[in-house]
Formats: sequence, structure tokens, C-alpha cells
Amino acid sequence: MYKGVPASPGIALGPALVLPKKQFQLEKKIIQDVTAEKDRFHQALTAAKTRIEGLIALAQEQEQTETAKIFEAHRMVLEDPELITGVEQQIDQEKVNAEFALETTVNFYINLLSQANSAYMRERVADLKDVANQVLQFLAGGGPQIPEIKEDCIIVAAELTPSDTALLPLDKVQGFITEVGGPTSHTAIIARSLELPAVVGVKKITASVQSGDHLIIDGEQGAVFVNPDSDTIAVYRQKQEVLHRQKKELASLKTLAAQTKSGKTIKLLANVGEPWELPKALEYGADGIGLFRTEYLFLNRDTLPTEEEQFQAYKEVLVQMEGKPVVIRTLDIGGDKNLPSLNLETEMNPFLGLRGIRLCLKNKTVFTTQLRALYRASVHGQLKIMFPMISSLEEYRAAVKCAEEVRAQLIEEGHPVSGHVPIGIMVEVPSTAIMTDLFAKEVDFVSIGTNDLTQYTLAVDRMNEQISHLYTPFHPAVLRLIKMVIAQARDGGIEVSMCGEMAGDPRFTSLLIGLGLESFSMSPSALLAVKKQVRAAKSTTAKALAQKVLALPTAEEIRAALENAEERSDSACES
Ligand code: PEP
Ligand code: MG
Repeated sequence: MYKGVPASPGIALGPALVLPKKQFQLEKKIIQDVTAEKDRFHQALTAAKTRIEGLIALAQEQEQTETAKIFEAHRMVLEDPELITGVEQQIDQEKVNAEFALETTVNFYINLLSQANSAYMRERVADLKDVANQVLQFLAGGGPQIPEIKEDCIIVAAELTPSDTALLPLDKVQGFITEVGGPTSHTAIIARSLELPAVVGVKKITASVQSGDHLIIDGEQGAVFVNPDSDTIAVYRQKQEVLHRQKKELASLKTLAAQTKSGKTIKLLANVGEPWELPKALEYGADGIGLFRTEYLFLNRDTLPTEEEQFQAYKEVLVQMEGKPVVIRTLDIGGDKNLPSLNLETEMNPFLGLRGIRLCLKNKTVFTTQLRALYRASVHGQLKIMFPMISSLEEYRAAVKCAEEVRAQLIEEGHPVSGHVPIGIMVEVPSTAIMTDLFAKEVDFVSIGTNDLTQYTLAVDRMNEQISHLYTPFHPAVLRLIKMVIAQARDGGIEVSMCGEMAGDPRFTSLLIGLGLESFSMSPSALLAVKKQVRAAKSTTAKALAQKVLALPTAEEIRAALENAEERSDSACES
């Protein structure tokens, strides 16, 4: 078994198709006619550009927005004046062939980018290589070749660029395995949008597999089996069938209401960490976005995103969600997420340190830039702003003061700003959970962040593998706090939602409904499984379950009770 990075979930079985590594004979040739050589280079550039424009149009037609964006970035590389002049100058001054000039110029930029500290910049190397390869293929004549695929197969490649992927007859492709790439690599993004299983970063896999070898990919676990025995095949065939059945069964729920058997409508919202997840949220019927994490805009880069860049990003989310509510959370950096551009000091206990709202209140420019972008975007949809890691009312008031100042300033500058942008908080620190009644007098809404609430209530670092067995949302103390937050928020007349992982875990659905929760926000892929539980729930049984579970003294007993209850509701649903 080979292990790699799980990049896109699902199971695939089938023969391998190993794509050959691209090799060009890049000879340095001295040329006589400089003008003709530069013409040849420009013709190849134009051919590559036409091809990329075709790929953009195709991706847009198929509503593959993320793929289209990747190709748009490629088009920008092709139009880069520095790159073009670099190649022309080499041809002019050294009288070398276009291939050699392109190769040396591109290598210069690749070296620069590879030395960058940020993973984002290093990933741009892949874009540059992809674009250069295409131009080289046009210089060689004919352009990129389409691999012939006659039967279903699993693609194995050292590296799979977006333009390689675009050449593949995807109706025959069952999954992808690559040697390079991480969970945010382009292969991973494209595989997820195609809903095909993928494992990336499997070292030396192209040397260990030959076309025709039988493969199994487990995209959830990041596992690859080469010529597995019949027992392993049988196990994975069965797993695949179960997944297919579940997917089909859940797909039939897409258009059905999230309503309990007692007629109560439950709001099912999506958590989104990157814009490519938005189409999935809509496809799976999300009523809106309950948590839009903004960290992706700040991570993997060397500079902070500008107000304009953020404005465009927030506007796009609001527009894509077509008037449905969108809760955008302000920056939650600190803890396990560092921002090199802020030169943050190393801390003894980063999760208890300068994180979330604390960091924003200390770095006011970062905060106000984000707030300006948010308020400017507010006119493009139904925006709600949420502050993370609030632990006291003073903190909340300070954050609201910043928001009000930003809003007033924008109006003074003549920017259109929405009349009412509700402001709420994450309840993820026990002090805030305990004071929900007081917060309810000042905030517009609360959202329970069970991931952090569990870590802070139990004093268990959520990233520390040594104590991961102690990190359990089934703990009675966590559930007691949740019960209290829901009750106090409801008594205070404010909206209460939950956006931690618990909200997307079907084992908790009935219990949370029994505790009075009416709004759940989760990863888009969990929406249908939770909807299934909602539709099977009854007010009286849910309340009885909540009463029973809250009286249990240990996490293990609670887990057993909830897993039993879920099984029962599953069978009730099927009958
Ligand atoms: C949470 O803490 O539950 C939460 C949703 O926030 P994050 O996982 O981004 O810390
Ligand atoms: Mg959190």
C-alpha cells in the first residue's frame, strides 16, 4: 500500500494509465534570422493563448469556476510583459532559438519563486511550468497531444497540470494519483470539483506502477493499492458500493425540505473555507452560508490582501449566494495559523494567545481593512459579520466600535453600504458561553463553534495527537454548555446557530433539535446526511433524547446513546 495526501474523497478501482513524463530536447541552437525566430515564438504564444481561452470557455460552460480561474491565471502568465521581453531579449542578444530562450527565462523565474517562503508562491511554479510546456509543445509543432484512452482507467502521473487534465476524456477517468501536490494543489481542486477520488503526493508512484496494473484509490484515507489481492478488492468493492448507495439515497434529498416529522423547519447552512466550495453548497441545497472562513485570503502568501482584493472576494461570495444569508467571519489567525507578514512573536501557548479578534484588535489596520472590504461588499447580498474568539463583552464592544467607525467613514467617503449588517459572535470560549444571556442583549446572533469550545472547555489542544483521545464533543461538560447557550440565546430573543463540526455530525442532529437548535452550519458534503436526520426527527423524541443524554455522566455513555439513537432513526427513515 502506498500512502499519499488525501485530495478528493471516494473510492475507485481500475487499471492504471501512467502518463509519460514530458521531455523536451532543449538544444541550444544559434540562429541567423532573429526576426523570424521572434515571430515563431509569438505564433506559439498566440496558439497557446487560443488554446487556453478555449479551456476557459469550456470550464465556464461546465460551471467549473475554479478550473476557469486557474486557466485565467495561465492566460495572465502568457501575457506577462516581463516574460515576453525576457525571451525576446535573449533571442536578440544571444541569437538563440526560441525554445532555449523560453526555457532559460522561465527557469530564472522558477528559481525566484521556488526560494519564496510561502507555499502559495511555490505553487505558482506549477502554473509557470504548465504554461511554458504548452508554448514549447506549440514550438515543437502541433501543440499538446491528447492521450488516447479507450477504457475506464485511473490516471497516474508525476505531475498533472490543469491543462493536462483538460485534455483527458474525463468520462473514462475514474481517479487521479500524482507524485507531487498537496490538498490545495490544482489536481486536488479539479478532482474535487469533478467529484473524482484523488490521492496526491505519492512519492515515486510512477516508477512503481505500469499502465494496466490494477489499482485501488481510497481518496478519503490517501491510500493507493497496486495489484491488490482478491480480498482487498472485495473489501473495496463493497465500500464503493456502500458509498454509491449512500450518495444516491442522499442525492434524492436535495430538493426536499429540511423539516422534522413534527413540521419544524431547520435551517441548514454551509461552512465554506474556500470559494470553490460555494457551488457545492448551492448544489446540496444550503439555505445560506453560516460560516465563511476568510483565512484563505491571508494564508500562503507573503503580503496582506488589499482592501480591493478582499472586497472582490466578499462580493463574489455574496453574488454567488444569490441573496441567501452569508455569515462572513473576520480573520481568525493565530493558534495553528501563522501570518509571516505580521511578524508575530512565538508564543508558549498559541491557542491561548494572540488569536482571532485579539489579534485584530491589536493590528487595527488589518482589521479595519477587512471591515472596509466587508461593508463595501454588503450591498451585493445579505451579509452578516461574525467575530471569532470573543471572550468578553469589552472585546465585543471594541470590535463593534471599529466596525461602526469603518461604516461611518465609508458613508462619508460616498461608498454605498447596506442599511443593516447584523453583527454576531462565535461562541467558542467557555467565558462567552457562560455569559450568553449578557451577550444576547448586545449581539444580533451567536454561532456555537464546537471545535474550539470543546478544546477550551476540556483544556485539550485540538492539534495535539498525544491527547486526541481526550478531545471529545460527547463530553457532558461540552453538552451542558451548549444546552445553556441555546437556551439563553433563545430567551434573549437572538438567533443561535452552530458552525462547529458537531453541527455536521448526524449523530448529534436529533439531540441538538431536542435542545432547541434550529440552525446548523456544516461542510457542504455533510448537508444531505444531516437533512436525512432532520427529516427523521420528531420534537417529542428529540426532547426526550436530550433529557436522557444530558443526564448521562460520561462521554462514552453519551456517545453510545447517540449512536444507538441515530441507528434507530436511520432504520425508521428507511422503513
Ligand atoms: C469552531 O471553533 O468550532 C469553528 C467553527 O472555528 P474554527 O474551526 O475555524 O476554529
Ligand atoms: Mg474556532
